[in-house]
Amino acid sequence: MSKTYDFIVIGAGAFGAWTAYYLRRAGARVALLDAYGPANSRASSGGETRVIRMGYGPDELYTRWSARSLPVWEQLARQTNQQLFHKTGVLWLSDDSDPYTRQLLDVLIKNGTVHEKLSAHEIGRRYPQLSFADATWAALEPESGVLMARQAVQAVVKDSVKNGVDFILASVLPPKTSTARLDAIHTSAGSFFSAANFIFACGPWLPKLFPDLLADRISPTRQEVFFLGPLAGIDDFRPPMMPVLLHHTHSLRPYALPDIEGRGFKIAFDRHGPDFDPDTGSRVVADQSISELRQYLRQHIPALFAAPIVETRVCQYENTSNGDFLIDRHPEWENVWLVGGGSGHGFKHGPAVGEYVTARILNNAAAEPRFSLASKQTTRARAVF
Ligand SMILES: Cc1cc2nc3c(=O)[nH]c(=O)nc-3n(C[C@H](O)[C@H](O)[C@H](O)COP(=O)(O)OP(=O)(O)OC[C@H]3O[C@@H](n4cnc5c(N)ncnc54)[C@H](O)[C@@H]3O)c2cc1C
Repeated sequence: MSKTYDFIVIGAGAFGAWTAYYLRRAGARVALLDAYGPANSRASSGGETRVIRMGYGPDELYTRWSARSLPVWEQLARQTNQQLFHKTGVLWLSDDSDPYTRQLLDVLIKNGTVHEKLSAHEIGRRYPQLSFADATWAALEPESGVLMARQAVQAVVKDSVKNGVDFILASVLPPKTSTARLDAIHTSAGSFFSAANFIFACGPWLPKLFPDLLADRISPTRQEVFFLGPLAGIDDFRPPMMPVLLHHTHSLRPYALPDIEGRGFKIAFDRHGPDFDPDTGSRVVADQSISELRQYLRQHIPALFAAPIVETRVCQYENTSNGDFLIDRHPEWENVWLVGGGSGHGFKHGPAVGEYVTARILNNAAAEPRFSLASKQTTRARAVF
């Protein structure tokens, strides 16, 4: 006879792992299922590193959620004795015509976030390896930095299992029921699992599991990432010489992370790529992207213009129409929850998402309207950056 759970969480990425963690801490019987394993190489949470920053332009909600999440990631690092967070600092390059960074600074001040405002001269003095003639000033978040994404999610799952969560490798089929409640989920291997509640935290797979509901509301897009090999014996591109760099005023929205653990200098463009299938999509980067990257490097990071590409990755964003998360009850099935829509910025918020889902379900906490299914449109108009 199969075990009965209070909650089955489907998806062991950043959102599902932290949700299972908090539900278990609240005393619930929890199983966590994943088709490919926690933070696997297809998952959006499966990259080596993710940026954690407090700045979100004028958007105080996500600034608050980042500020809530960072100490929890740090606590996890202490508890598991791993370096899961690197305090590299996050540098926002700006120019005089850019309202986003000005508003971001106002929000950081209001929230009491440690920050510095750097003049163009100061940017050049502190970071001589960079060349940003277009930046007239910058905002620096010295306390922010880089999370070791894959390792961190796996650490959350390991800790949850130690505390009594059952982790099960299983691929769940799209759920079906003709009543207002779902009794069980079925897997591709022919088994089934029962629970009082089901939480689908399946990131870019959510539209496959709920095609009628989400095919038009969550769009996975192909995102390419490059790791460059700096010159031997040079530390210009490692912390503390190099912070995370966000050049959002540039049309390609480039961002870069310092060389951490000798993996290489990571750089990518934060604009949405073409639509992408997370199971079968090709994860080989395009030649065109490499020439675009070289052009950017030539202008702004000349020391890396000819640097070898030591590794590439293709990941996917799981975008809602405007970039707000989807965290809501299924509109027809009262014991089913949908958690996802990280939209290229969700990773850092994993702890806050887990806390929020747990409080919503167990304590009937107030719902944030921006996370509702009803607020999700079908036309793509990104508004959260
Ligand atoms: C290139 C790139 C850079 C990014 N940079 C940042 C950043 O710097 N900072 C930041 O905060 N965020 C960043 N993000 C966004 C962030 O990584 C995602 O928003 C976040 O990881 C989403 O987590 P998730 O748990 O919702 O989804 P996922 O991590 O994709 O997890 C979903 C899980 O569900 C499982 N699953 C799916 N279907 C099934 C099924 N049928 N049965 C069982 N299991 C199933 C999958 O195997 C997977 O493990 C970036 C994303 C990408 C792609």
